[in-house]
Amino acid sequence: MNAETAREKFVDWLAMRMTVAGRGDCDDVLEVEPSGKYWLGRLQSAEAVAESDWGDRGERLEPCAFGIKVKPRDAGPWRFHVVTSFRVWLWDKSAKIWKKTEPVCTRSVIEVPVRIGTHRYAGEELAHALASVTGRAGLAARIDVEVEIGQSGDHELSVSLVNSSPKEHSDFRDTRLYQCELRIEDLDTAPFILEALEDSFRYDRRIQAYGINCGVPIESGTFVTEDAVTVDRQRPRYWNVDYQMPTMRFGDFADDPIGPAESLLSALKRWGSANWATDVLDHRADEERWSPEMRQKAARAAEEFEQECERLAKGIELLLSDEALFRAFRGMNRAMSFSARGKYDSWRPFQLGFLLANLSSVVDGVREPDVVDVVWFATGGGKTETYLGLLVTAALYDRMTGKASGITAWSRFPLRMLSLQQTQRFADAIASAEMVRREMDLGGDGFSLGFFVGQGATPNRIPENAKPGDPDPDDDQMPRRYQVLEFCPFCHERSITMEFDRRTWRLEHRCGNAACVANGEALPIYVVDEEIYRFLPTVVVGTLDKAASIALQASMRGMVGAPLGVCSRKGHGYTYAPRSSRPSGCLVPGCRATQQALPMEEDRYGPSFRLQDELHLLRDSLGAVDSHYEALYDALQDELCGRKPKILASSATLTGYEKQVDVLYRRAARVFPAPPPRVGGGFWTADSESLMRRFVAIAPRGVTIEYTVDRLLTELQIAVRDLARDPISTCAEIGVDPKFAGELLSLYGTNVVYGNTLRDLEAVMRSMETQVLVPGAINTASLTGKTDFSEVREILERLQSPEDSFEERLHIVSASSMMSHGVDVDRLNVMVMLGIPLSAAEFIQATARVGRRFPGLVFVVHKIGRERDAGVFRSFRQFIEQGDRFVEPIPVTRRSRRVLDRTVTGLELARLLMIHEASSGTALTTLRTFKDYVSSGKFDVDVELDALIKALGLQSELDEPLRKDLRVWFDELRHNILVPPNDARFPSDLSPSGPPMLSLRDVEKQAPVIGTRV
Ligand SMILES: [Zn+2]
Ligand SMILES: [Zn+2]
Repeated sequence: MNAETAREKFVDWLAMRMTVAGRGDCDDVLEVEPSGKYWLGRLQSAEAVAESDWGDRGERLEPCAFGIKVKPRDAGPWRFHVVTSFRVWLWDKSAKIWKKTEPVCTRSVIEVPVRIGTHRYAGEELAHALASVTGRAGLAARIDVEVEIGQSGDHELSVSLVNSSPKEHSDFRDTRLYQCELRIEDLDTAPFILEALEDSFRYDRRIQAYGINCGVPIESGTFVTEDAVTVDRQRPRYWNVDYQMPTMRFGDFADDPIGPAESLLSALKRWGSANWATDVLDHRADEERWSPEMRQKAARAAEEFEQECERLAKGIELLLSDEALFRAFRGMNRAMSFSARGKYDSWRPFQLGFLLANLSSVVDGVREPDVVDVVWFATGGGKTETYLGLLVTAALYDRMTGKASGITAWSRFPLRMLSLQQTQRFADAIASAEMVRREMDLGGDGFSLGFFVGQGATPNRIPENAKPGDPDPDDDQMPRRYQVLEFCPFCHERSITMEFDRRTWRLEHRCGNAACVANGEALPIYVVDEEIYRFLPTVVVGTLDKAASIALQASMRGMVGAPLGVCSRKGHGYTYAPRSSRPSGCLVPGCRATQQALPMEEDRYGPSFRLQDELHLLRDSLGAVDSHYEALYDALQDELCGRKPKILASSATLTGYEKQVDVLYRRAARVFPAPPPRVGGGFWTADSESLMRRFVAIAPRGVTIEYTVDRLLTELQIAVRDLARDPISTCAEIGVDPKFAGELLSLYGTNVVYGNTLRDLEAVMRSMETQVLVPGAINTASLTGKTDFSEVREILERLQSPEDSFEERLHIVSASSMMSHGVDVDRLNVMVMLGIPLSAAEFIQATARVGRRFPGLVFVVHKIGRERDAGVFRSFRQFIEQGDRFVEPIPVTRRSRRVLDRTVTGLELARLLMIHEASSGTALTTLRTFKDYVSSGKFDVDVELDALIKALGLQSELDEPLRKDLRVWFDELRHNILVPPNDARFPSDLSPSGPPMLSLRDVEKQAPVIGTRV
């Protein structure tokens, strides 16, 4: 047996153990009430449910019936068999214990007439069987068959087992039925056909049966109820055609990329003619009974595929015709081989496909920026490396074509916490690119990375005289607190030390490895905002929130255009608008050196790329605010450099991406890869045979969700502790070789509890202390928005390199959406999810944190009282298999007047800082200097109004209310300039709608009232 099989068997075993524990299969006697203990397979008395005040919700929380809905193939009447099995818990008064009965098993012949309505069967038979097993009369059950006409016009049968026992009975302390099961045998059925949705031609629309309060796996032609609904997802495979895969090795592409790129394209085309050709689609339309709309959708999708082929061809053509691009692309491949340091040595075909398709964007700064390219593929597929491949190509190309300095790309993540693992991958790629740059003897600045997340995680600045809470340059411990990289990006050793260099006023990562090419120099990463302004790293990676800084910081100019100069003192970097504390505009405290001219033409400074990760999260108010700031950045860069950047985005879902891109960026959208003609069967990815993730849906019956989670964690921890304590017999029980015990313990010994609200998670952690009782201690940790930066780093490190002994490791990690991005820990393979997240996209992202490399297991515990959770539970299989179609269109608009009221101050202040102050040659920070500037005639309120209307693209009739709001705002501004409010000190105090936003997330709460000390 190989390790993969062992892992899959272990997942089977673990999932099975949870079901068994939930039903109580292994218990025969109990000291506690069975109704308080089991969360699966039980049926309440119908009378008790009817008497509860909860209505439908009561029925969901503890049902009295469950069963299967099918569509018979013939017109009826129908005859088939129903097999039932269940047990009863009896209270033994004298012994004061509960005892479980033997199973009550029946096999009934059911004859159903063709008559709409509910027909009852087997009541007497079941009552009799119950009495004979329990030794007393009083309990009752029956089989109901509801006949109805479905949407298709055919008859449908809902067959269920009902607990028709009384609510109370003197001979039974508990009138529930336990370990219930129902099967339908000998009924010929036809599948239900799901209604056609947006891209139905890609999906199998047939459903054999629906579960009623349960799942329905089909075992050799019979339908059987399943307490916890199990759905497997297979791991993707990246080469899915019969012909030989061309070399994908970095080394080969560094030598000669043309040959393998052409082979790849020809394979893609051959696959296309077998899957997208007109006759192939016609044939499918016939076989699968597509509607004309479905056939049209398929034809349009086929065109998108053709365009994808053309883009790849264009990429190859560019490599052949543009010598600099050819060299940059080869150099990038060489850098990737350094960066991967033997962990992997080649591209996946889709990564290369993406790179070829997007090479145009490296060379064409005129037409390409009009289209946003959205990267869409299975999470964990190597998205970050794909991006990096393109950015490194662009950076090398920049150096060859005269961009000797400045930012090539700004990559933004929507959440506050950007993962350090991702940052490390960026740093590794940039350092490798730097080695290649040196090798190729390209001039200009060395390549470097900026980590731009700001206050809380890393400092905005290191002040000369630190106040409490500020990073203190005289504190020896200070630098260590801001360590971002764990490994040296050059030599990949854990050799990093942190230092503060007073001479250059830099907070430095340094490598202590004497053999490293870094050679004792500071590593090329900047983590302090002001250092990012001073040095304009080649690639800036950070959180989207920081975009708001453009209204607050004159030094943000490097993100849209050129700085104002360079400090004459070596190591001080770029300079910006002067301030009283920095007369020459140098950001190093106390510097009195002079400002020198820029080393490069101004219009080359604007970044070529803005990247947006997790595009689907830019929704609601964050999306609305961002749409205004995106427009601002575009307009400023256009004004300063004469062009907009190219935008690349990634998204977990494609639902409504075109509209979202239009709202956010006012550009057309294109996606790579084009979605395949059949789900799970594309050229770039397709399902393999091996298990990636098993999802187990649980609708707790009669107990709370918190209790169910406690019990699951208890049972999970007992299971792995059995494995740790007695690997030989536990492995024998599982059916795997004991030599795998250590690995299995490591891969499945840590459980993630994922909650959608902090309150849920805190409740779980609290109750865990008293309710999760297992042999030995349970070590826990939390990864939420509240966890501070250094703690996150420490927890991830422990998860990645666990302690030797199981007792010392982390056993349970509670996590919120903060961890649904970029946490790549191969050891996280078991998750318990508390309730369905608000968006299907979050569900996809969150559950993708487990099973990244090895088979994962996700228990989805539904808050079954809620309508949404109940809906997902009812169609759980489709929710998992067709998740993307269940992703709600993303609500986002740029036409929110409320949002414009909050953003307008920032938009205008940014123009004041980036455009006016830079051209005025003086500081415009005080009311007096600003009024002087206005008097000089260079600041015209009407011109500003027009500039914002143009920037925001408020051209349509629908935009009139917003244009009107802007006119009113600027009229008031004009008035405030003439007659400033009494307490006004700064230009921002003249804003009719308050101060600018400090973060793009501020819209929910009013920002604190402070001046703009720019
Ligand atoms: Zn090193
Ligand atoms: Zn200086």
